[in-house]
Amino acid sequence: MSYAKALHCRECGREYPLQPSHVCEFCFGPLEVTYDYDAQRKAVSRRSIESGPLSLWRYRDLLPCDADRAVDLNAGFTPLLRARNLGEALGLSQLYIKNDCTNPTWSFKDRVVAVASTKALEFGFDTLACASTGNLANSVAAHASRAGIKAYVFVPSNLESGKLVGSAVYGATLVAVDGAYDDVNRLCSELADKYPWAFVNINVRPYYAEGSKTLAYEVAEQLGWRAPDHCIVPMASGSLLTKIGKGLDEMAKLWLLDSVQTKISGAQALGCSPIVTAWQAGTLNIRPVKPNTIAKSLAIGNPADGYYALKVIGDSGGSAVASDDDEIVDGIKLLAESEGIFAETAGGVVIAGLKRLVESGRVDRDELVVAFITGAGLKTQEAVVDKINKALHIAPTVASFEEAIAQRGGAIAGNQGTR
Ligand SMILES: *Cc1c(COP(=O)(O)O)cnc(C)c1O
Ligand SMILES: [Zn+2]
Repeated sequence: MSYAKALHCRECGREYPLQPSHVCEFCFGPLEVTYDYDAQRKAVSRRSIESGPLSLWRYRDLLPCDADRAVDLNAGFTPLLRARNLGEALGLSQLYIKNDCTNPTWSFKDRVVAVASTKALEFGFDTLACASTGNLANSVAAHASRAGIKAYVFVPSNLESGKLVGSAVYGATLVAVDGAYDDVNRLCSELADKYPWAFVNINVRPYYAEGSKTLAYEVAEQLGWRAPDHCIVPMASGSLLTKIGKGLDEMAKLWLLDSVQTKISGAQALGCSPIVTAWQAGTLNIRPVKPNTIAKSLAIGNPADGYYALKVIGDSGGSAVASDDDEIVDGIKLLAESEGIFAETAGGVVIAGLKRLVESGRVDRDELVVAFITGAGLKTQEAVVDKINKALHIAPTVASFEEAIAQRGGAIAGNQGTR
């Protein structure tokens, strides 16, 4: 069972039963899941959560689906790491990395798909589908396999090979569409009207989006039941950012946290930054753009939740920041070299954005900052392959090794030298 109560229109407030739909019939506003918070407050405690499994299902009572029949690849409960080296490099005294690279398909999308696929089975669907910038397709394909149902995943045809292989390997029908994500999304909306499939981010989007809240729950629990001072979140549609806000608010509402005064800042790639552009212009009106960036996982030119993301950023006292492709690569390398975490381009966007926010004084040096690293770097090797040290190519002899090091002009670690 679940404490979800209704679907609620974010614009006009009308309520609908819990069904597979995502827009209000009256005003076309987006629908969101609401809960019976009084019942939840009686059932949920820090202790009840702590006694749950080491996955996102420990927050089962805060999710809109029946966890007893979960499609479960053990997503969530990923590491929250204190990042002293990176903190020092950026001038931050309390920096943490939420490392969602360790999810089953190596991105945070396993959280949303775990919830959406569980709900889709509850609704009786036997086919999962999605419009994706890559990571979502990987996760939908994997969860469909786990559930023993079919999957159709639609992506822009210019994706990195790691993301294409990472969908096809599960046996899903992978459809590479000539066009940008926004074309893929429009096509999928038409297909969702025609075929009885659960498009995780279209007709079951309200349930899907709830999965993102678990990132906020985890961070607060892992900090010892306290909210961070500042979250730095990558934005594509803007959904993840809004749900980190909702997750923290719910924890306060359910008395799991004493107080929440978390600033939430959003990061985009300069080559696709419609939300940041609106933020800088001081408007809630987002003008769609044509994406052109190496951060393909975030390349949504017309962000469905951009308006709500701007509100969460503004209400929380956060900020929005964009970084160019060179800065994104530098961000990937800085995170890898300082902390041993190889993130995909979206992680580079977050680290580059955080650097800018510190430099501009938008992030305070003594704040407890959490940077959300949402996907793993092996999927986007193209972004860095030409910008990292080449291997030393040698014959299998000591002499060849030493010669190669000398040619590069480096010293050998631990070498006593000639005396
Ligand atoms: C999808 C995605 C996001 C954020 O997506 P939203 O549409 O804003 O929720 C962030 N990082 C990665 C790696 C993603 O794949
Ligand atoms: Zn409405």
